[in-house]
Amino acid sequence: MANKKLRREIIAKARLFNTTGLSVGTSGNLSARTKKGYLITPTGVPYNDLMPDDIVEIDLKDKIISGKLVPSSEWPFHKAIYTSRREVNAVVHVHSPYATGIACTRQDIPAFHYMVAIVGGNSIRCASYATFGTEELSRNAIEALKDRKACLLANHGMIALGEAVNTAFKLAGEVENLARQYWISKQFGEPVLLSDVEMLINVEKFKNYGRQSVNVKRKRK
Ligand code: 13P
Ligand code: ZN
Repeated sequence: MANKKLRREIIAKARLFNTTGLSVGTSGNLSARTKKGYLITPTGVPYNDLMPDDIVEIDLKDKIISGKLVPSSEWPFHKAIYTSRREVNAVVHVHSPYATGIACTRQDIPAFHYMVAIVGGNSIRCASYATFGTEELSRNAIEALKDRKACLLANHGMIALGEAVNTAFKLAGEVENLARQYWISKQFGEPVLLSDVEMLINVEKFKNYGRQSVNVKRKRK
C-alpha cells in the first residue's frame, strides 16, 4: 500500500476531530495531496474504525486509484482545491460549533482580532450556501478561499487548508477559536475592527511568525 505514513497521519488527525470537539460523529472529512492525486477519508465511516487502506486515493481526473470504500461526499471541493491551489497539500473540513454557528448566519468573520490575519487576509469569508457534496458548493468554497487559507461554509461548517496535514488541522483549531472569541466579543457589543492597513501588517508578520534559529524540537519527559 502506497503512502502508508500519510494514511496514518490522516487517520490520527481525523480521530482528533471527535476528541477535540471539532466535529461530532462522522461529520467532516480530511484529505492530503499525493504524487498521483489525493488521499481522502471515506464517507460516513466512524473515525475510530478507520484503517490505513480505508483511505481512498483519487487522481485529479476523478479515477479511484486505491481503496474499496466510497470516498467522502465532499471530494469535489477537495479536488477543486488541489487543482486550483498548488501550494495546498492538505484540506480539513469540520462542523465545529462556533464556526458553524456563525456560518449559519451567513456572515464573514471580520478583522475583530489580529489573529484573523492567520488565514491570509482581513476576514474569514463565508461561502454562499449550496447543498453538500455538489459542484456548486465546490465553486462557492473556491471563491471564498481566494487569497485565504480558510473559509466558513454557509449553514454547514468550515474548511481549513495547509501545506501539510498538521498545519491544516492546526488552522481549523485556530479558526474555531477565533469564531468563539468573535461570538464572545459580540455578547458585549460591537467589536472594534482593525483597519485594512493594520491587517496587512499582521498578514506580513505571520509569514515569519514563530521561526526560531535553533531547533526546538524536544522530547516529552
Ligand atoms: P462525508 O462523511 O461524506 O465525508 O460527509 C461529511 C460531511 O461533513 C459532509 O459535508
Ligand atoms: Zn460537512
